[in-house]
Amino acid sequence: MEFRDLKKQYQLLKGDIDQAMADVAASGAFIMGSPVKELEQELAEYVGVKHCIACANGTDALTLALKALGIGKGDAVFVPDFTFFATAEVVALEGATPVFVDVDPRTFNMDPKSLDDAIRSVHDHMTLRPKAVIAVDLFGQPANYPELRIITKREGMFLIEDGAQGFGGSIRLPKPSGEGTMVKRACSFGDISTTSFFPAKPLGCYGDGGAVFTDNDEWAELLASYRVHGKGSHKYDNVRIGLNSRLDTMQAAILRVKFKAFKEHELADVNKAAEYYNQLLGGMTKFLRKEIRITTPYVPEGYGSSWAQYTIQLSVPSGEGTFNREALQAKLKAKGIPTMVYYPTPMSAQTAFKEYHNFALTPNAERLSKSVLSLPMHPYLTREEVRSVVEGLIYSI
Ligand SMILES: *Cc1c(COP(=O)(O)O)cnc(C)c1O
Repeated sequence: MEFRDLKKQYQLLKGDIDQAMADVAASGAFIMGSPVKELEQELAEYVGVKHCIACANGTDALTLALKALGIGKGDAVFVPDFTFFATAEVVALEGATPVFVDVDPRTFNMDPKSLDDAIRSVHDHMTLRPKAVIAVDLFGQPANYPELRIITKREGMFLIEDGAQGFGGSIRLPKPSGEGTMVKRACSFGDISTTSFFPAKPLGCYGDGGAVFTDNDEWAELLASYRVHGKGSHKYDNVRIGLNSRLDTMQAAILRVKFKAFKEHELADVNKAAEYYNQLLGGMTKFLRKEIRITTPYVPEGYGSSWAQYTIQLSVPSGEGTFNREALQAKLKAKGIPTMVYYPTPMSAQTAFKEYHNFALTPNAERLSKSVLSLPMHPYLTREEVRSVVEGLIYSI
């Protein structure tokens, strides 16, 4: 069994993907060929924003967003303590200061109340300007944007959405008119939002890729400039220091084929797999030794996930003794069931960030880093496979 079965997906889409790659090879337009623009238009339309700027990877997408917003030295940028390293790394790379914020123990996403506390702590410290929040759609589920937006508005801060894992997620919100509701998709919640097309993400390419989304014309223009060496009116007119961060035409062509499958059935199929996991794990826990508790992922009412990961929590409710996660992973591996720990170390505990001041305590992130376990998850996972993972898990604990 594969943790994320990219080979099965390729076998099913092989005809169209091979054709798309051959077409690019025949065109000779390897850099900024027409599939890049076409993909950008399709993605912007799906997400429901005016501009999509494709780029080289999800980390660069964040860097481009920070550059377009003019974020740098002296700025505090609030990031969740429980995320992939890149979210905080880009902040430090731009010379700004990452401030780690605790997460909600049920959704794994940035906790608005903890954000408030961290902002207050930065204000008290008086050496940094609270400038932006980067909220992460962890494991495929959008962060609590309605509440985060209230805070960033009040503070005059930018809200950036790191949707690297979130593409395809959604939140049902009241219509601006006040009558009825509407579904708003991930990568439309930030002033600038980003995603990644790393192969294992909900929408992945065959190498590295990423994209930036915004409704703002001025930022869109800046993003396009920063993407190609800070270009001005033409390629050899350089008006600012930028990056070389284009998306290859080959990757765009592959993504167009995969995006079609994503919209037609993959997003629905991965949600079916999640439902089946929930159902089976909910029914099986009675067979567990009493002192171990399995908590299945929590998706709040009105939220939709694209299930970048299916992540359970294993805990010892009595608090007596600790659960040996590594031993469990080894037992599962021996049964042919791959598992992963996303993430074993909170950002504030990373060696690379040891010189940054900790403005807030992050007990939830610490606890999660010790208790989470991600199970095999992808749109091509069969019901039999889900059942064998759950059985393997129950009998290995
Ligand atoms: C994967 C990921 C990134 C970085 O994307 P790359 O394409 O690998 O550079 C950033 N943030 C989060 C939350 C991610 O999961």
